[in-house]
Amino acid sequence: KESPAMKFQRRHMDPGGPSNNSNYCNQMMRRRNMTEGRCKPVNTFIHKPLADVQAICLQGNTPCKHGQPNCHKSSSRMKITDCRETNGSQYPNCDYRNSHKERHIIVACAGNPYVPVHFDASV
Ligand code: 5GP
Repeated sequence: KESPAMKFQRRHMDPGGPSNNSNYCNQMMRRRNMTEGRCKPVNTFIHKPLADVQAICLQGNTPCKHGQPNCHKSSSRMKITDCRETNGSQYPNCDYRNSHKERHIIVACAGNPYVPVHFDASV
């Protein structure tokens, strides 16, 4: 079964990306299985090495959006792509807009080893 840590990697890690391609989100959301059963409305991909993202769990502790205490904010900005469903998107033809940004990111960490398991926000 997929662990929470592996699920985070599937949904959010793309260290080699983004490909310079207006279909990036459409392809990636599908390839990473976030368009099955429904279109996941918002999802962020992180374009940094896994070790750099795992290290966020040792960086500034901050409350998560829903009040849990285990979120951490990256000390540096990271290249990310925010994928957001378009108004016209209709399952099963999930359609997304790409938005490339450089932001601090906030992830929730859990487990032993203490690693990212949820993407909370970019700021
Ligand atoms: P909206 O901007 O539509 O009101 O809310 C979208 C929220 O989802 C934002 O606060 C944004 O930080 C957050 N968000 C961005 N990417 C992801 C993601 O991959 N997973 C989750 N759970 N939230 C995300």
